[in-house]
Amino acid sequence: MSSDIVYLDGAYIAAQEAKVSVFDRGFLFGDSVYEVIPYYRGVSFRLEPHLKRLEHSLAALRIPLTLDWPAVLDELVSRNGGGNLSVYLQVTRGDAGRRTPVYDASMKPTVFACCNPIRDIYADGADGVAGIGVIVTADLRWHRCDIKANGLLPNILVLQQAREEGADEALMIRDGVLTEGGSSNLFIVKSGVLYTPKLGSEILGGTTRELVLELARAAGIPYQETDLSYENLLEADEVWISSSTRAVVPVLRVDGKTVGDGTKGPLWRRMFELFSQFHRRLMTGEE
Ligand code: PLP
Repeated sequence: MSSDIVYLDGAYIAAQEAKVSVFDRGFLFGDSVYEVIPYYRGVSFRLEPHLKRLEHSLAALRIPLTLDWPAVLDELVSRNGGGNLSVYLQVTRGDAGRRTPVYDASMKPTVFACCNPIRDIYADGADGVAGIGVIVTADLRWHRCDIKANGLLPNILVLQQAREEGADEALMIRDGVLTEGGSSNLFIVKSGVLYTPKLGSEILGGTTRELVLELARAAGIPYQETDLSYENLLEADEVWISSSTRAVVPVLRVDGKTVGDGTKGPLWRRMFELFSQFHRRLMTGEE
């Protein structure tokens, strides 16, 4: 069992004790939203943007919920011994007592959270980060990818495809425009400029994507949020993906072809250092 104590509807209980109804709409329809938040040495990393996005997802699904999330999650992390953990939280529309697509707006949501151990990605510096390979595949998802919803079948299928083809992530493309990875956002570097797909309903507004742009702005690294093509990807000097538990990861191969000179690029190293400094400031409380 990866998580000893879980949170379920107000109670902190052993994972084996946690039970959800078979008529819960999260189970029957994927009528639910989620978040994944890293904690390092028991301290949350960028909790605020995650909670803001959660609010956005809940509002989009019209699931009403008021909860003191920082208190709930900090308590969960502490009950699981603190340390380096990712917290998974999920809110479903709740248990309808029967299977019926149309819902009653007064339903009580089901709230679940658990923890998983994670590696401290900053512990071994840039040399400790391995470059990865990606494949590019069709984006078969719906048109509200800005909602962090649990209907993840297309993501699961492309991630599995990547794994089976010896790659670590699948980048998706829709109408000739790259959107994002199965569980990450995309960045490319060309001639010293950082590019990333613009926000909208076709991608998830990643909290790490936001931090990359914030750090780039502060460091004077030029960037553009714009449409990117497969050719842009193949011609890039550097390609990165970003996500909460992985920060920024250099992509060294796209569909088996080498990116740039095949090594972790200089701008990635700079961005990783900016992330590390940000992380250090957070850990030492000198923000
Ligand atoms: N895009 C998708 C589809 C994701 O599933 C994720 C995270 O899991 C991200 C982007 C990155 O978001 P964040 O940086 O907030 O983890």
